[in-house]
Amino acid sequence: MVLIVSMTTQKMLEESKTYLMDTYRRFPIVIVKGRGVKVYDSHGKEYIDFVSGIAVNNLGHCHPKVVVALQKQAQRLIHISNLYHIEPQIRLAKILVEHSFADKVFFSNSGAEANEAAIKLARKYSKENFGNERYEIITTLGSFHGRTLATLSATGQEKFQKGFEPLLIGFRYVPFNDLDALRNTITDRTCAVMVEPIQGESGVRISKEGYLKGLREICDEKKLILILDEVQTGMGRTGKLFAYEHYTIEPDIMTLAKALGGGVAIGATLSKEKFARAFVPGSHASTFGGNPIACAAANAAVEAILEDGFVLENSRRMGDYFKKGLERLKEDYSFINEVRGIGLLIGMELNTECSNIVTDCLERGFLINCTEGNVLRFMPPLIITEKEIDALLDVLDDVFHRILPER
Ligand SMILES: *Cc1c(COP(=O)(O)O)cnc(C)c1O
Repeated sequence: MVLIVSMTTQKMLEESKTYLMDTYRRFPIVIVKGRGVKVYDSHGKEYIDFVSGIAVNNLGHCHPKVVVALQKQAQRLIHISNLYHIEPQIRLAKILVEHSFADKVFFSNSGAEANEAAIKLARKYSKENFGNERYEIITTLGSFHGRTLATLSATGQEKFQKGFEPLLIGFRYVPFNDLDALRNTITDRTCAVMVEPIQGESGVRISKEGYLKGLREICDEKKLILILDEVQTGMGRTGKLFAYEHYTIEPDIMTLAKALGGGVAIGATLSKEKFARAFVPGSHASTFGGNPIACAAANAAVEAILEDGFVLENSRRMGDYFKKGLERLKEDYSFINEVRGIGLLIGMELNTECSNIVTDCLERGFLINCTEGNVLRFMPPLIITEKEIDALLDVLDDVFHRILPER
């Protein structure tokens, strides 16, 4: 395959270091093209992508329906602002409301912004209904809600917060999966509880049986708002459109981003009518939020996920298949602690560092991710096949065998 790139790879890597702030630990490759579950670097080397741009490319790369929707919208209207009604934005809000617990939607451009809107909405509703002192939000240790100052303050992990203090006040943290700790932390100041159904960034930690139901009951009893951060778990990642659907409960507010736009930046805060009413003209805004381009891509992506049920079904089936394969590896290698996941959000916890395993897989043409230092995280496009999963399982077997021969 001939790839036309304007700079040599070496020059790009040098200029990347020269001109970009050093915020990412990047692999020394430049990905220039993607199709379905495959991506290609500037040398033309092919990789099978088990990262999906961190749970973004749920339909694979450059899904034809998303590409066509973007092309058509780019020719019609790229930006106009929320001073006017925006057709693709209205369509997207409608389809999200029709397929969720929610009545109303606010659009932004990222997961952090979607969570910011959720935090602001919860505070405003609570102050108006219960008084000025009610503004605290309880979140969980190990959570990840974003990198803006408010969402960083909501994130229950010191390693992300260090160096950025003072943080925003009004957040309390409790251990994940611990309902008693939550009960003991609620005061008259508490207005909401915010959790991820699965803690993706801190190693694919799954909410245990009864936890979300317990949260719902406590929130109902204490008149607290239940906010679910489904930025990573949403849009079919777990085999249902939204992860909360596995737990027979509904949140009051839910945030989405990552896969919502089929690869294009967009965030959404979904809410029941009762809480959404706290936002009135002037309460909150975003210049680019719900712009025509992002919403056109998102409409195509949501329609492709829902169409004939194949994508969701495949996410469930391939998730089970993949997990079984990883479980088989666990039987062979004692350094594998646990395999856990729902649908195609899967973690494999090792009792050893995993970054060199990621590099070895990269060399063999597979993109995988390591989180928390010792958890391999797999989040392939939801269109992945058994053949591709088998190919990665073979590579993992080989890599495990070579780098850690003591079995
Ligand atoms: C990625 C992520 C965010 C932040 O999203 P950005 O688009 O990077 O701001 C928030 N919450 C969860 C659960 C995430 O996985």
